Amino acid sequence: MNNRFQDENLRLSDFEREVWVVCPACAKKAVATLDSERKTARLFCDSCGCHKETTTDVLPYGTIHLAAHSWFGQPLWLQAPFRNGVFYAYNFRHLEYLERYIGATLREHKGRTHFTLLEKLPRFYHDAKNREGLLKLITRLKNRT
Ligand SMILES: [Zn+2]
Repeated sequence: MNNRFQDENLRLSDFEREVWVVCPACAKKAVATLDSERKTARLFCDSCGCHKETTTDVLPYGTIHLAAHSWFGQPLWLQAPFRNGVFYAYNFRHLEYLERYIGATLREHKGRTHFTLLEKLPRFYHDAKNREGLLKLITRLKNRT
C-alpha cells in the first residue's frame, strides 16, 4: 500500500515563529517565539521559569529575517546528528511534517519553486535507504524530555 505525501509547499519560515530550543538555564526544553507586532523575540522555559526577551527591531547586518531561536543563540531542541549531516526541526509541527514526508513511499510535488523547505533539505532526507533510520530518530526526538 502506498503511503502518500502531498507537498504543502511550506517554507522553513512557516515554522520560524515558534522554535523549540535548549533552555540556557536548565538545559530542558524551552520555546522561543517571535511577536512581529511588538517586534520582540521571547524565550520561555516551563521547567525552570527562565524568561528572556529581546527586541527584533534591528536585524544583524546581512540578514533578512531570523528564526525565533536565532535571537538567543540557543541550540535547537529537536536536533540530532544523522550520518554526515544534522537532522533538525524547529518545532513539533515541523517535525511531523518531515516525518510524513520521510515516511511516505509516494511523494507528490505540485510545482517546484526552489524555495520550499523540502526542496532545500540536504540529500540524506530524501534517500529511501535512510527512511527507517530517520523515522527512528524522529521518534527519539518526539520522546525527548
Ligand atoms: Zn529552563
